[in-house]
Amino acid sequence: MGGGRGGPRRGSDLRYMLELDLEEAVFGVEKSIEVPTLIECETCTGTGSADGKTATCNTCRGHGRVRMQNGIFSVQQTCPHCGGSGKTIANPCRDCRGEGRVHDERTLSVRIPAGVDNGDRIRLTGQGEAGPPGTVPGDLYVEVRVREHEVFQREGDDLHCEVPIRYGQAALGAELKIPTLGGEASITVPAETQSGKLFRLRGKGVKSVRSGRTGDLICRVVVETPVRLTRTQRELLEQFEATFEGADAAAHSPRNSSWLDNVKQFWDRVTS
Ligand SMILES: [Zn+2]
Ligand SMILES: [Zn+2]
Repeated sequence: MGGGRGGPRRGSDLRYMLELDLEEAVFGVEKSIEVPTLIECETCTGTGSADGKTATCNTCRGHGRVRMQNGIFSVQQTCPHCGGSGKTIANPCRDCRGEGRVHDERTLSVRIPAGVDNGDRIRLTGQGEAGPPGTVPGDLYVEVRVREHEVFQREGDDLHCEVPIRYGQAALGAELKIPTLGGEASITVPAETQSGKLFRLRGKGVKSVRSGRTGDLICRVVVETPVRLTRTQRELLEQFEATFEGADAAAHSPRNSSWLDNVKQFWDRVTS
């Protein structure tokens, strides 16, 4: 990161935050980015000099080293003004004021490998800021940020999604079409499926950029209450509901009956 004896040896590193869609992160993408940076001045080709002429450094009088008083010690060190060369620019370039570099926006094409995730960094050597004359530029670190997806959430190499199903489908069983990032898949929901049940589709997740292992797609089915019922639907549901009266309710509602048992135990404790 520059610094050290003789002034900075290279330009500063840059960090660039790159936002990607989930699909881009999963499958990889080529992105064109515009990075505000310091680049080599074209006018003076990075020398900082208007005519190539040098002058003797005023600070060290051409010695390249200066004596500094440090407590009782006198320490010799590299001249901070000329960086040890003993020479300075006689006529600074007007475009960069002798800096040898100018502010600009650089357009870069970045190849994002498949499988990257939030926080992953891609290093582009030498694409950071230009350094002072005679030094190498720093590096550019492109940091990946993945936007939220409307269907899938990523956890490691697995993808998660929620699949709403109708009450009838859950009770009778159904074949469901499931979206995946690579196209359509299907899951068989068996009869008597409860809301919240997870279905795992192996290998339909994300292929890790590091391990090469491919994760799974985990679908959570959620039973949805029907809304805006037609008159026929309402009548049928009323008939259906009526069948439970007097019947063995527990036989049809395992969760509800165990819940009722718990409530009853609770009341017994409270009232005894
Ligand atoms: Zn210049
Ligand atoms: Zn000097």
